[in-house]
Amino acid sequence: MRDSVINCWDETHAGQIEPRDTRFDILSISMAIFGGHSKIIVDLLSSSHEWGCMHYREVDTTREFLLRLETGADWRTEIEEFAELKDIDAAWFNAMGAVQDAEVWFYDQTETEYNSVSFDEPLEIAACIGNISMLDDERFAHTHAVLSRPSGQALAGHLNAGTVFAGEVYLRALDTDLIREYDETTGLDLWL
Ligand code: ZN
Repeated sequence: MRDSVINCWDETHAGQIEPRDTRFDILSISMAIFGGHSKIIVDLLSSSHEWGCMHYREVDTTREFLLRLETGADWRTEIEEFAELKDIDAAWFNAMGAVQDAEVWFYDQTETEYNSVSFDEPLEIAACIGNISMLDDERFAHTHAVLSRPSGQALAGHLNAGTVFAGEVYLRALDTDLIREYDETTGLDLWL
């Protein structure tokens, strides 16, 4: 009985992609209850799960915030420092505003590395979306944005940095932690 529970745990974290039935998870948890393995029960309930190739976790929202980013600060750092201040380990956010410059990254899927491009010009943050998780024991705001020029031309990508001109953020904290770890398939630090 105990082996069944541990196998379930190992499978989840080994990242296997065999299709699984969520009923198996429920069965495993029940077996653990009857076996009295309380620590394992807690671990299972707080871990991620897989459905086919997809990893997922059910979460509840906790707190919600509105932020005004400080002119002259770095866009991403402002959000990360707020998360640190409020002890937020996981969140989802969207934002808009403008930056005085921007460093945008594009991930080369063949070379599995980021290429950086910088724009030293005022840009509108027409749309920004991101999430907060833990990366190397620090809060990381994974931030993507669509930026626009005076002509209306759009630039877009992974927003690594940008000097805030003005910024408005809506942030929703989640009742979990999200830890990014290296994924061999993509070369990225992925969560779950
Ligand atoms: Zn990205």
